[in-house]
Amino acid sequence: MSSRLPSWRELPVGAIILEPGSSRRYKTHEWRTLRPVINQDKCIRCRICWSYCPEPAIIEADKPYVTSTNRRYEVSYLIDYDYCKGCGICAQECPVKAIEMVPEVR
Ligand code: SF4
Ligand code: SF4
Repeated sequence: MSSRLPSWRELPVGAIILEPGSSRRYKTHEWRTLRPVINQDKCIRCRICWSYCPEPAIIEADKPYVTSTNRRYEVSYLIDYDYCKGCGICAQECPVKAIEMVPEVR
């Protein structure tokens, strides 16, 4: 990405985005002051965080997990910390409070 911002003369008419998928380059993690952490033992794999995340920064991974009470899940929900902006919606919506927002340490 260029360090110089384009002048108004260089912008396309209406400042429309000409390249599809360019938002992938804008990693929104730098906004974050709180970081969500999923407790895989508490998570019941309901997918609510995945559907509410506005980025989306929650990944449904084919990663089996066995809880401390021997319950086996075939998927795990993980956070993509490159794009998570720390809004906390996932933690708010999780029905079993398996997501904790902790201070971001850089
Ligand atoms: S804190 Fe916000 S952006 Fe990050 S994973 Fe949760 S809902 Fe998505
Ligand atoms: S909302 Fe909570 S319980 Fe449901 S998948 Fe996400 S972390 Fe797991």
